[in-house]
Amino acid sequence: MVSRRRFINLGGQSLVALASSGLLVPKTASLSYAQNSAEKSQAPSTNVDVIIVGAGLSGLIAARTLRKAGKAVTVLEARTRVGGRMASTKTIEGGVIDFGGQWVGPTQTRFLALLDEFQIKRFDSHYEGKSVFIWNGKRTIANLAKDYDKSFLFFDPSQLPLLPSDLLAAKELNQKLMKIVAQVNREKPWLTPNAKALDSQTIQTWINQNSRSEIARFTIAWLTRQGGEGGFEPSEASLLHLAWKQAVSPQNEFPETWLIDGGAGQVAVRLAQELNDAIQLNAPVRWIEYGDKAVKVITKAGITYNAKSVIVAIPPPLRMGIEFSPPLPAQMSGLIQRGPMGSIIKAHAVYPNAFWRSQGLSGMAIGNLPLLEFTADSSPPSGKPGILTTFVSSNQAVSLGLLNADDRRQAIMRDFVKYWGPQAANPTNFYEANWPSEQWTRGAYTNFLTPGTWTSFGPAWREPVGPIFWAGTEVATRWPGYFDGAIRAGESAAQSALAL
Ligand SMILES: Cc1cc2nc3c(=O)[nH]c(=O)nc-3n(C[C@H](O)[C@H](O)[C@H](O)COP(=O)(O)OP(=O)(O)OC[C@H]3O[C@@H](n4cnc5c(N)ncnc54)[C@H](O)[C@@H]3O)c2cc1C
Repeated sequence: MVSRRRFINLGGQSLVALASSGLLVPKTASLSYAQNSAEKSQAPSTNVDVIIVGAGLSGLIAARTLRKAGKAVTVLEARTRVGGRMASTKTIEGGVIDFGGQWVGPTQTRFLALLDEFQIKRFDSHYEGKSVFIWNGKRTIANLAKDYDKSFLFFDPSQLPLLPSDLLAAKELNQKLMKIVAQVNREKPWLTPNAKALDSQTIQTWINQNSRSEIARFTIAWLTRQGGEGGFEPSEASLLHLAWKQAVSPQNEFPETWLIDGGAGQVAVRLAQELNDAIQLNAPVRWIEYGDKAVKVITKAGITYNAKSVIVAIPPPLRMGIEFSPPLPAQMSGLIQRGPMGSIIKAHAVYPNAFWRSQGLSGMAIGNLPLLEFTADSSPPSGKPGILTTFVSSNQAVSLGLLNADDRRQAIMRDFVKYWGPQAANPTNFYEANWPSEQWTRGAYTNFLTPGTWTSFGPAWREPVGPIFWAGTEVATRWPGYFDGAIRAGESAAQSALAL
C-alpha cells in the first residue's frame, strides 16, 4: 500500500513533511535552515556588494563566483530550503529520488565540472533491454535506436508496427524542423532569418501545415510536452521558440545520459554549505529599488538589504511578484508577461526491485496514453529499489492537478500498469511533485515564449536594467531550462556584476 504521507508538497508549509521524508538539506545546518532569521546564530549582512535573489542552482553559483572574487554577498531565498527545482529525498527503501531535475548529459560541461569538483559520481541511466511503445492502445516491445537522428522518438523505427507512410511522414516533419533549427541565431533568436514568420505562428499551426500524419504530428507534440522543452502544448508556443530550444538544448546531445549518485539535490546542499552565513531562507523579495550603482532590496518581512547591485535568479514570470522602483522597462515587462512556466507533475513509483529489468525491459516507455506519455527507470545501478519515473505534462498536468492526491495517484498508477503490467500496480511508495502548484516556481520544467514574443520583446531577455542582472536557467544561451544552463547563467550574471 502506498502511504499518503508520501504526497509531498515542496512549498514552504511542507518543511515538516520534507524533513520527515529525508529531504537532503544541509547536514550542518538542517535545523537552523528551518528557523527564522532571529534564531540564526549569524544573520546575513544587510550591507553587501551584491544581493542575490533566489537560492536555486543559478543563484548559488552566482553567489559562489562573486565570493571567490572577494565580494560580499547575501542570498535571499523565499522557501525554507535551498535548491529550487533541484531537490532530492531519500526513500525508505534505500533509494533517492529527485523531485526536480535528475539527469545530466555529455555536453553539459559546466554541470559535469561541478559534479567532478564535488566528487559526486554519476551512473548510466538504464536504457538496457527493450522498451515499450503504446500507440492508440497497441503495446509494442521494441529496441531503442542506436542513432537518435535515425530513430522514431528514440525507438528503432523498423521495430514499430507503424505504416511506412507514417514513418516517412515523421522523418520528413522532423527533418523540416531541423532545417529551421540549423538557421536559428542562438544568442539573439529574434535575428534568425525569417524570424517574424517563424515567431508569428504556433508550433501547432506549423505541424498542421506540414503533416497530415497523426503520429508524425505526435512526435513534435511529444517534444514540446515531454522532451526537455518545458511542459507546454504545441498550440501555446511560438515555432521560433521551439527551434531556438532545439538549437541550444538539443535532444540529440543526450541530456538524459546519466543519473547522479545520491540525487541532484545534494549539489545545492553542498553549495549552500559553503555559503551558509550568506543565505537567508524564508525571505521572499517583494521590492527592488535601484539607481545607477545602488540597490535597496526589501523582503516580505520588511527587512531592507543594501548593495551595489542585485542578481535576480528566479524563474522569469516570478519577477512579476516583485515591485521594481522605477518600474522595469516596457520591453522587459512585456517579455516576462508573455513567457509563462510550463506545467509538469513529476511522479515516482518505488518497488523493492526493478522487476522490469529481469524481464529484459528498460523501464523506458513512450506512448499516447490518456495521462502518461513517458516513463523512465530512475533506479540505482543495482536495481534496488526499483524506481519508475514519469512526467504528466501541460494540459494533462492542469487537469490532474484539479484532483485530490489519492485520485491523482490512482490515475498515474493506471497508466504505469498499462506500460509495465500488473506488477507495477503495487509500489511500496509513491512520490509526486506538483510544480505548477509551487508558489516559488509555478511550473516546470522552465518557461516558454508565446507567439510574437521573441521578435517583439526578445532583446530585453538578458539585458541588465541598471544594477539589476538576470540569472536563472531561462537566461542561458546554452542548455537553458537545464542545470547546466542555470550554472552558465549564474556565472555570467556574476561576471557582469563584477564588471559594474
Ligand atoms: C520536474 C523537473 C524535471 C527536470 N529535469 C531536469 C533534468 O533531468 N536535467 C536538468 O539538467 N534539468 C532538469 N530540470 C530543470 C532544472 O531543475 C532547472 O533548470 C534548474 O534547477 C533551475 O535552477 P534555477 O536556479 O535557475 O531556478 P530555481 O531552481 O527555480 O531557483 C529559483 C529560486 O528562487 C526562489 N525564489 C523565487 N521567487 C523568489 C523571491 N521573490 N524571493 C526570493 N526567492 C525567490 C525559489 O524558491 C527558488 O529557490 C527539471 C526541472 C523540473 C521541475
